Amino acid sequence: MSDNPQPEVQKIVVVGAGLAGAKTVEALREQGFDGSLTLVGAESEPPYERPPLSKDYLSGEAEFDDALVHPQEWYAEHDVDLRLGTEVTGLDREARQVTLADGSTLDYDALVLATGSQARHLDVAGAEPLTLRTREDADRIRSTFGEGKKLAVVGGGWIGLEVAAAARGADTEVVLVERSELPLLGVLGREMAEVFADLHREHGVDLRLGVDDVDAVLTEVGPDAVVVGVGVQPRVELAEAAGLDLADDGGVAVDAELRSSDPAIWAVGDIASHDHPRLDGRIRVEHWATALNQPAAAAASILGRGEAYDRLPYFYSDQFDLGMEYVGHASPDDTARVVVRGDRDGREFVAFWLDAEDHVLAAMNVNVWDVQDAIRPLILERTVVDPVKLADPDTAYEQVGR
Ligand code: NAP
Repeated sequence: MSDNPQPEVQKIVVVGAGLAGAKTVEALREQGFDGSLTLVGAESEPPYERPPLSKDYLSGEAEFDDALVHPQEWYAEHDVDLRLGTEVTGLDREARQVTLADGSTLDYDALVLATGSQARHLDVAGAEPLTLRTREDADRIRSTFGEGKKLAVVGGGWIGLEVAAAARGADTEVVLVERSELPLLGVLGREMAEVFADLHREHGVDLRLGVDDVDAVLTEVGPDAVVVGVGVQPRVELAEAAGLDLADDGGVAVDAELRSSDPAIWAVGDIASHDHPRLDGRIRVEHWATALNQPAAAAASILGRGEAYDRLPYFYSDQFDLGMEYVGHASPDDTARVVVRGDRDGREFVAFWLDAEDHVLAAMNVNVWDVQDAIRPLILERTVVDPVKLADPDTAYEQVGR
């Protein structure tokens, strides 16, 4: 006799053995699921976290094993059938069955798609460009670092900037090529994007901004290697072929509990276009914290005691001597102004993105720590803030309302 909280669910298959997949099987066991549980992933490594790949693992300061979600033996100890180096090639929703590359099949009562993203490719002049997604990619990129070596980085997003910082840390000459006027312009807006541009310039990164013709710059620079970080594509091939509803943002459309248009299928992490109860409409977040936190909500939903997933998007970055955390979501279209508390030029401050009614949409603390708990309620409770108080470091966050 099974003690499963949801007796009709006896077989669960999780596709994708990254952080989101590993956290899904962990949450299912923690929440009392004792049926058959299979985690299938194409990579040969057991599930690992990706943030270190562009930070301390890339710079050689951390070991790969520190990035593992669980030690390899954890999966057997928790009766999880971990199939590594195994591609899922088909999904038959009617039969509730997935097909693996070797032609074998797995039946499911509930299926979780945690297939993540793949790096977008860009053909460039000269060297075969490198992208960063896996441990192998990070090892290859690290081998291009060193004094006397010249690295070109195409794309001034998170990957581009973190790779540039790690490469400079190893005394590599770095040229960063970005088509916008500033790195991170689309995500942070001008004022905060300038903070990152200044940081990189001060640490010797040769920033080439507003570049239309990337190949011309690469030909002029003549780098020893090129890293391309021009965004990712959610891996939704299986979902699409099986006819699940996709959203305009390219992800799998899921409800507040992360359930897809097929009631037996959930999606978590990068691919989930989530109907977020705290934000206006759908959001698809390609960041570590989403892969870390959504699985517990999906597991609860599968086991019949679902609640809406309502955490705010969160991410962090480390570049040179700058550490930051960002919470919330502020698109350039919704942002009316940015308020800064602290020392922007000294890179020790908190920035707040406000809408036209002075609600806080998002906040970023730079080299200021332990403020997330105080900031989050401003966003969650839709506080109408007084921008003067918000900018004043002597006014407590509970007192910044109008
Ligand atoms: P990204 O953050 O989306 O940035 C891509 C950048 O490349 C943008 O600045 C974009 O500029 C630029 N770009 C696009 N096409 C280009 C072209 N043809 N030539 C020159 N520049 C071009 O993507 P990413 O940096 O590749 O990162 C991949 C994923 O990993 C993202 O989902 C990211 O969130 C995640 N990641 C997160 C972190 C973190 O949270 N700390 C760290 C690393 C990676 P436009 O704005 O003009 O399009």
